[in-house]
Amino acid sequence: MVGDIYNLIDEIVAFRDARDWSQFHTLKNLAASLSIEAAELLELTQWKSEEELELALKDEDFCSKLSDETADVLIYVLLICKKAGIDPLDAARQKLVRNEKRYLLDKSRGSAKKYTEIE
Ligand SMILES: [Mg+2]
Repeated sequence: MVGDIYNLIDEIVAFRDARDWSQFHTLKNLAASLSIEAAELLELTQWKSEEELELALKDEDFCSKLSDETADVLIYVLLICKKAGIDPLDAARQKLVRNEKRYLLDKSRGSAKKYTEIE
């Protein structure tokens, strides 16, 4: 299917390989880059109150920056998946199944507690 996540991975890899950047894409460098991009995303929220952020979500320039940083994070996640042979959709679905067992509805609904703190 055109536009699916696997096609996106192929497009990212083609972009990278055309520039001969694979040599820089060690797992450590990709993990560091993911963390840096996640920090750039977080930076957009730095010093803003919850109310200011709700207003920012209606601001075109803010949403454009948020979109850019979210895309950077996704690209590095997918490059890590490619590097490690992880199917991102299978991995996410398997994690959801595990989380459903960790966060049973009757005990976790409306609670922000981590599964290790739920009795
Ligand atoms: Mg960025």
